[in-house]
Amino acid sequence: MLEEIKALDKKYYMNTFGDRLPVVFDHGKGMKLYDDKGEVYYDFLGGIAVNAIGHAHPYFVEKVTEQIGKMVHTSSLYYIENQAKLAQKLVENTCADRAFFANSGAEANEGAMKLARIYFYKKGIDRTEIISLNHSFHGRTLATVAVTGQEHYQAPYRPNLPGVTQVEPNNFEALLEAVNDKTAAIMLEPIQGESGVHPMDKEYLEKVRALCDEKGIILIFDEVQTGMGRTGYLFASQYYGVEPDIFTSAKALGGGVPIGALCAKQFVADAFEPGDHGTTFGGNPLATAAGLAVFEIFEKENLLENTRNKGAEFMSKLNSLKAQYPDKITDVRGAGLLIGIQLKDEIAKDVFRGLFERKILTSLCGGNTIRIAPALNITSDEIDIFIAKLKEIME
Ligand SMILES: *Cc1c(COP(=O)(O)O)cnc(C)c1O
Repeated sequence: MLEEIKALDKKYYMNTFGDRLPVVFDHGKGMKLYDDKGEVYYDFLGGIAVNAIGHAHPYFVEKVTEQIGKMVHTSSLYYIENQAKLAQKLVENTCADRAFFANSGAEANEGAMKLARIYFYKKGIDRTEIISLNHSFHGRTLATVAVTGQEHYQAPYRPNLPGVTQVEPNNFEALLEAVNDKTAAIMLEPIQGESGVHPMDKEYLEKVRALCDEKGIILIFDEVQTGMGRTGYLFASQYYGVEPDIFTSAKALGGGVPIGALCAKQFVADAFEPGDHGTTFGGNPLATAAGLAVFEIFEKENLLENTRNKGAEFMSKLNSLKAQYPDKITDVRGAGLLIGIQLKDEIAKDVFRGLFERKILTSLCGGNTIRIAPALNITSDEIDIFIAKLKEIME
């Protein structure tokens, strides 16, 4: 089956993903994924921080199938019960006053940039520029590529969206220098995911917040990866205790059903008036049923608390391994269950491959860092499986 699917992919699918890892999954359960031969893999990547409630969670399956049986889509011409209720959940549990649903992280981020610009436009103030950070990742659309501070994502698609610049992360002086009277927004990931799990310093974020307050700049947190419990708090802004004016969410929000959210404080959300922004699919009855089911599972199973506890346990076990193999593991960092294990450059690929061969799914990011973002209901036994396999490879 693998060979057959691979041949179809090579012939018919655009070659955007090159040679993928040699496996075809058939189904999953919790932290486990089963391939076409029935072999078990442990999903420590969680579909890149998407499967926060694990695979085939019974309550999720029940609620989503129930919704499919009722209706999948109606359009934004009508009121949508699940959409209104999911917006309520996001608002009641965060610093936001309003939410809007898109279909992906990139699309939510596009919405965030549009909202920041229209806010000043409606006030008749000429402020359109956006400052983001080097090594960031904000998505694959033209505007989100422009704020993604990585040359190889931008180069083929220039000219970029005008008025966008990047500065070094965690360097407040650099940011201060880049800000001018045209700056509309500063956009950043509280923890940079894609480039290797690099958390911002709390002090840096506090200074950025104060700067935005002083200059009337809109602060946007891209929480597409860090949001929905990943750090042990519903959003990383709560982990840091720093409130953005706008934040976005996606990945884990629908438990794997595509959905993105744009959330904002009232003063900036008010800039969107009828006709200013929209979507066909965004927040449809199915996607928002999935989002509501995820929220309910978070509450019923105390997933935020579990994330804090298991994240601390995972981190401390990884730090012991690092102490045992200091010449191989150079850093362990992250928050909650978003963890980066930085390795000596020369061995990083082999360790990643070694984990895969031992049926442990992770991703290699930033060139030398193993990223793990497992289901938030992970158990200690599952953590120990990972530690044992990594130890085996270290030896
Ligand atoms: C994954 C990711 C995105 C892009 O999300 P898509 O759903 O792939 O468009 C944007 N920002 C961050 C921080 C991400 O991790």
